[in-house]
Amino acid sequence: MDLGEGLRQAIAKLSRATIIDAKTVKEFTKELQKSLLSADVEVSLVFQISKEIEAESLKSRPPSGITSKDYITDIVYKKLVGLMGSTYTPEMKSKRVLLMGLYGSGKTTTAVKIAKYYQDRGMSAAVICCDVTRPAAYEQLETLAAQANITFFGIKGEKDPVKVLKASRQPLKGKNVVICDTSGRNALDDNLIAELKAVAREFGADEKILVVGADTGQTPGSQAREFDSAVKISGGVGTGMDGSVKGGGAISAANAAKAHVMFIGTGEKIGNIEPFDSEKFIGSLLGIPDMSSLLDKVSKAVAEAKIKPEDMQTEELNFETFYTQLKAMGHMGPLKNVFGMMGASDVPKEMLDQGEDRLNKFKVIISSMTQSERKDERLLHNPDRIKRIAVGSGTSEHDVHMLISQFNKMKKMFNTFKNDRGFRKRFAKFGA
Ligand code: GDP
Ligand code: MG
Repeated sequence: MDLGEGLRQAIAKLSRATIIDAKTVKEFTKELQKSLLSADVEVSLVFQISKEIEAESLKSRPPSGITSKDYITDIVYKKLVGLMGSTYTPEMKSKRVLLMGLYGSGKTTTAVKIAKYYQDRGMSAAVICCDVTRPAAYEQLETLAAQANITFFGIKGEKDPVKVLKASRQPLKGKNVVICDTSGRNALDDNLIAELKAVAREFGADEKILVVGADTGQTPGSQAREFDSAVKISGGVGTGMDGSVKGGGAISAANAAKAHVMFIGTGEKIGNIEPFDSEKFIGSLLGIPDMSSLLDKVSKAVAEAKIKPEDMQTEELNFETFYTQLKAMGHMGPLKNVFGMMGASDVPKEMLDQGEDRLNKFKVIISSMTQSERKDERLLHNPDRIKRIAVGSGTSEHDVHMLISQFNKMKKMFNTFKNDRGFRKRFAKFGA
């Protein structure tokens, strides 16, 4: 089961519940906990979040006209946005940005990425190497900066970052955005604390950003707390967000430092950086991707396939309507989670993977059926008929059986929809 699936099912369950009682909410928060934990959100924070969501969900009834599902999803969403901050929009104005973080968190790469981000938008940008610890830190930043056409400043071999900063004033005069890369450690120690304090004082940062790798495991919270108490943090950047569905580290860090996530790194290339979009991030964390654009696409797919809401609740699905339905399912292939989001359980994968070839085959098979067979599937519980249809359509008996098995699966799915009034209502909106 993927990360979002359990949660989607829990949300589906919620939408079927007529009242929100303690038991329903408990079940839901349990799924939410699992989801957050597997995304590497810190254990203590997971419990804090779920306790607050539980309390809030039970505190008052959903306002009339709002489903339990929408009500609770909204509470969860607001809670997580509260922790991570809303979508970040970088201001195009002069600023000095100090980057901090442990070894390998992605500071040096991020320094150049951010500089390039601003430079591409018309600001002049420069990076300064104040990592005086790691051998070759100077060369790494110099090379990356040259690749991105960003001005670089550093003093090779200099062990005092304050001297580097003092010397950088004159040559970098007039630069709009100046970014300072600093030393890392395996863990924050007194030595680095003293160094960062001195750097922050001399540099005069407008933004002090902690860079946290997505694969940091369960420690980003304590990391962020330590950095924050040493040098007050004003924001976070999560790197390596391309590699996994994890990213809970960014939530934990942001929460611990009471700071917001500003950018995320989505790959090793210099262009792989995005301002943090909380809606998108939390959506994918919860397994509910961009809802509004998805729903748009569904409306389109449904319209194209000419499915009517009546068809979705048809008393008897028969082979005549089956083909249209199947074709519609094919259109929804990339949107396979949509039923889950709308509160029904997920549609079986095979139903959505309708290749053009298979659809065509099904079409000829259906055209080889008699009128009465098309209307009544039970007539096909007869090997002779199956054989006749296979020969008549130039397919195999196996193909005919496959069609029948898909037909039965769809019938079962439709029965579920039929019995779920809430789903039907939501679906009807698309068919309109
Ligand atoms: P520093 O020690 O904190 O300065 O970290 P570096 O900037 O040297 O980065 C460490 C490694 O992580 C390098 O191999 C980078 O290419 C890689 N890295 C940095 N940011 C990202 C990212 O957003 N995605 C991926 N996949 N790799 C990244
Ligand atoms: Mg570095």
